[in-house]
Amino acid sequence: MTRSGSCLCDSVQYTVEGDPVIVAHCHCVDCQKQSGAGHATGAMFKVENFKVSGNLSKYKNTSNNSNEVTRAFCPSCGSLIYSCNDKMTDFITVPLGTFEDGNQFVPEVAIFSRNKKKWDDMDEALHIFNTQPDWKPQS
Ligand SMILES: [Zn+2]
Ligand SMILES: [Zn+2]
Repeated sequence: MTRSGSCLCDSVQYTVEGDPVIVAHCHCVDCQKQSGAGHATGAMFKVENFKVSGNLSKYKNTSNNSNEVTRAFCPSCGSLIYSCNDKMTDFITVPLGTFEDGNQFVPEVAIFSRNKKKWDDMDEALHIFNTQPDWKPQS
């Protein structure tokens, strides 16, 4: 199955093959700053299944867990297109809001609940982690 998505101004387009290895809400402070919202929601895919066209700008910083995280975004409209980190180089995370049909995805976990804002309701049916669980996808 191929899914597609784009940025707000449509100058960046992507497709991704197959199903995500995990779909998560992240309430960490970096995702709050980046998204401007209470949390970011992303689906993790194998990087080899992801194809993108258009210009991307990249911003790198060091996360809470001292991973180097890269966020790639459209330089014209600022939409985040993917993020990745140097400890899991086979995978990228794509924000659900950029998919043409983001309704197909089912979030399974919420991480960094310790940083959750009071007004940002969390689905209690999910697996909730205070920080980031010690979890790695199978390569
Ligand atoms: Zn754009
Ligand atoms: Zn985060």
